[in-house]
Amino acid sequence: MQADRWVRFCCNGCAYTVQVREGGNPYLLDWRGKRWYYAPTQPAWQVILEIEYMEQRFLSDLERQRLLQKQGNAPEHVCLTCGRITWIDPTRDKMECWWCGGIVMQGTALEGERCPKCQQGVLHRTASEEETDRG
Ligand SMILES: [Zn+2]
Ligand SMILES: [Zn+2]
Repeated sequence: MQADRWVRFCCNGCAYTVQVREGGNPYLLDWRGKRWYYAPTQPAWQVILEIEYMEQRFLSDLERQRLLQKQGNAPEHVCLTCGRITWIDPTRDKMECWWCGGIVMQGTALEGERCPKCQQGVLHRTASEEETDRG
């Protein structure tokens, strides 16, 4: 299986580091508006198996089609105020930190940004590592 790619940024002034998934967090939106996330290296249909398992029934072809039409991606965004990670889909969500309401920025675009923790250092991308998904 293909390895998941992560991008890591480190502050040059303090110990702050943040790691984000290069491919973001793709998801299918179900009929209740719930998001079913899967790894970028995973095919979307695997999530349908997961939904069927959770629902304890098989989905109809129409339901499957509808799910596959409602795809999205909510990559890790990093709050420039508190430094915490949120998963935000720019096409559906406000670009706002879940924790403090601060402005967020897409995690993969942090190169050269001011460090949210010490507010002095600058974030730099460190050597990209390949890590496999937990699953
Ligand atoms: Zn810092
Ligand atoms: Zn925040």
